[in-house]
Amino acid sequence: MVEYDAVIVGAGVLGLATAYHLKSRNPESNVLVIDKFGAAGQGSTAKSAAAFRCFFHSRTNFALSDSSVEFYKHIQNDLEFDLKLRWTGYLWLFDEDEYCKMLPVLKDLASKGLQYVEYEESDLVKKLDMRTDLTDDEEAQLMGLRNVRKGILIPKAGLIDVDSLVKFYESEFMKLRGKIQYNTEAMEVIVESRQPLGIPGEPFFWQDATVAGVKTNRGLVKAKKTIIVAGPWIAKLLDSIGVECFIKAKKRQVFSVKAKTEALKKLLFTKEFTDAGCLPFTIPPTPSAYIRPAPEEDALWLAYADDFPRAFKAEDNPEPEENFYKYGLYQVIVKYFPQFTGCQPFSAFAGLYEINTIDHQPLIFEENGIMVVGGASGSGIMKADAIGRIAAALYKDEEYALLYGDRKFKVSDLGLKDRNIEHEKLVI
Ligand SMILES: Cc1cc2nc3c(=O)[nH]c(=O)nc-3n(C[C@H](O)[C@H](O)[C@H](O)COP(=O)(O)OP(=O)(O)OC[C@H]3O[C@@H](n4cnc5c(N)ncnc54)[C@H](O)[C@@H]3O)c2cc1C
Repeated sequence: MVEYDAVIVGAGVLGLATAYHLKSRNPESNVLVIDKFGAAGQGSTAKSAAAFRCFFHSRTNFALSDSSVEFYKHIQNDLEFDLKLRWTGYLWLFDEDEYCKMLPVLKDLASKGLQYVEYEESDLVKKLDMRTDLTDDEEAQLMGLRNVRKGILIPKAGLIDVDSLVKFYESEFMKLRGKIQYNTEAMEVIVESRQPLGIPGEPFFWQDATVAGVKTNRGLVKAKKTIIVAGPWIAKLLDSIGVECFIKAKKRQVFSVKAKTEALKKLLFTKEFTDAGCLPFTIPPTPSAYIRPAPEEDALWLAYADDFPRAFKAEDNPEPEENFYKYGLYQVIVKYFPQFTGCQPFSAFAGLYEINTIDHQPLIFEENGIMVVGGASGSGIMKADAIGRIAAALYKDEEYALLYGDRKFKVSDLGLKDRNIEHEKLVI
């Protein structure tokens, strides 16, 4: 039986970015990627809103997303592989309190050269035909909705075609002679003694044991290094060998509304904010449901990442819930944007966030011969390239990873033992 140098479980965006960087840094190594689905990126990656931003206060967030997005720009502009990057920007709509809280953080970021544009309430009313003052609206008051006082536009932000991004990593990995096997599910992780004695029931607790690969529905896959990049399903594999990863799955839902009326078309294709020819990714005040433009399908996506009391559940096929739209998203969005009055979604989908319950930042660590990469907590697309490079550096036992643009990143900062994450002050 072939023994691979590395087997990567999971061909989502993180698994493939890891595979590509690992193989390009170790061209002679024999690397296999397996995935339970029939093609790449069919897990959370396919369900993403595919938005990115490079505007964070924490060093950790900024390094991971900005270097990744710069690499995506390089793929598109220099390597001429179209990722359909669309610089729509992010538009945050703040109430008075939120704005006052964020102002020092925004000023600090501006002093470091990060750009943003401020809009007054009256500009927003004019440019978006929106309602900013909900004081006299009894229902809005009952729902605790807040008045909009300011808009903050982040220009270095937008949308990416996730399918193309996944194809880039997959095809480049294969050009390097990496192997991929789809429809292959890892059923369990194989643990073996480093010095087997041939006694049934090994390894015993007194033996030095390590992970030696995975047992799949298509047979055993032996590898010197097993790398689990299984997104929201990570814990299913790790729990059975007693490795804690602090990653839990939570359902997230997106509802797509067709821009059928003139008012919705005007909103979707507004040119008031950027050159992208459409609305920015727009986030009204708390509870921060969002509108994601989907100009290629003449639609606007509505979504919200609900927390308490939404259960942690690693479902195989999460379904969108009609009432989540009807009594949740619709009710909130229509108060600010009356253009949505009477709109029903024409399609909807649900996926899973793979949430790191410690600090919502990615986790990249090794324990007992198994490497774990995941927990991007809803921002895995915008951080995938950096995560892949850090995982490749951990594989090579390096202290620092070199992110795109020659930025050094300490590998242990995303580990478990010496974790060093800077708290994010720009929390919307
Ligand atoms: C609704 C929604 C909106 C989002 N919006 C954004 C956004 O705007 N921007 C952003 O940056 N991020 C966003 N995200 C998050 C982003 O999609 C994820 O962080 C990212 O896709 C995680 O990638 P992954 O490779 O870790 O996981 P996945 O894409 O889930 O990949 C894991 C892979 O592992 C495979 N697998 C699992 N178990 C096994 C097994 N036992 N054997 C074999 N294969 C296995 C699965 O089939 C899957 O293909 C969003 C997520 C959701 C759900």
